[in-house]
Amino acid sequence: MKIIAGNWKMNGTRELLNEMIVALENIDTENKVILCVPYTMLAASSARVAIGAQDVSAHDHGAYTGQVSANMVAATGATYTIVGHSERRQYNGDTNDTVRQKAAAAVAAGLTPIICVGETMDEKNAGKTMEIIQSGVRESVPQDTKNIIIAYEPRWAIGAGITPTDDEIASAHQLIADTLSDMGLGGTPILYGASVRASNAAQIMSIPHVDGVLVGGASLKVDDFIPIITSVK
Ligand code: PEP
Repeated sequence: MKIIAGNWKMNGTRELLNEMIVALENIDTENKVILCVPYTMLAASSARVAIGAQDVSAHDHGAYTGQVSANMVAATGATYTIVGHSERRQYNGDTNDTVRQKAAAAVAAGLTPIICVGETMDEKNAGKTMEIIQSGVRESVPQDTKNIIIAYEPRWAIGAGITPTDDEIASAHQLIADTLSDMGLGGTPILYGASVRASNAAQIMSIPHVDGVLVGGASLKVDDFIPIITSVK
């Protein structure tokens, strides 16, 4: 069983979400499917598809205009949230420190956070990939919490139509698995994300310690997303 999570970013409509849910309810797979959608669509419900947000506040409530708390997300019936996506880190100033606080708030509210880590192109070129991944995991994951998912997303490959080599993905996922194990979190699912398509999904998910994928652009069309989900048993 693999985990296939879609990240709709700031895209989609309720009509598209309904269409996607109906299509996903009819597919024959044991894989876990999660759709992380804009806040305005969180109230969607489906027996087959878990719904998630794309971020939560680190705060419970208060004077934080524009923010949405993990409890508010949970109250919609959603069960997951992405935290630390590279676009939040790039455009909204999220750091490992704030991501850890958001992940802790998510867990406290009963949500499963999908905690994203990954290196930029500059960090890759500087030979810092492994260091960034390891510090990302150590600093973004809250202590003593088991109900989490990690997503390795090389930031330079997101939306770019290019992916790391299989060896690069294998090394990154091995490091994440070892780091989690060292933190007492062995067995935590680790997703790969960035430019996953139907054409590369099965190969990527055959790499050791790749427990599923986080899919951006290709999760927005039924005909692109379903073949990714059904590419593995
Ligand atoms: C993402 O934004 O999380 C992502 C994986 O995007 P894409 O699949 O479009 O590269």
